[in-house]
Amino acid sequence: MSNENKVKEKFLGSLKSPKVTGKNAVDPKKISMPMHDPEAVIQVFCTGCGKYSRINQKGATNLAQMANVELPSDTDGFYFETSRCILCDDDFREVNLQKAR
Ligand SMILES: [Zn+2]
Repeated sequence: MSNENKVKEKFLGSLKSPKVTGKNAVDPKKISMPMHDPEAVIQVFCTGCGKYSRINQKGATNLAQMANVELPSDTDGFYFETSRCILCDDDFREVNLQKAR
């Protein structure tokens, strides 16, 4: 087992990565759902595999840096869109801050 897979197993409880199909479209209802997680500050949608994830303050700060934007002080209504994520790849790629409609 590769080290990377061990890390994934530890954090995600599964070795199965979602298949990257590309060009998945975000569901406006899902992305604007309340997160019910005190740690989570913003949602991430991956167009590569179509998965939604929630990230904490530290993760959000990292993704904002990757997107070259300031993280809004109120992230309500915002989400990050990525072409790859930690579920389907080893890191987030092509990060963009988006406004949910
Ligand atoms: Zn993904």
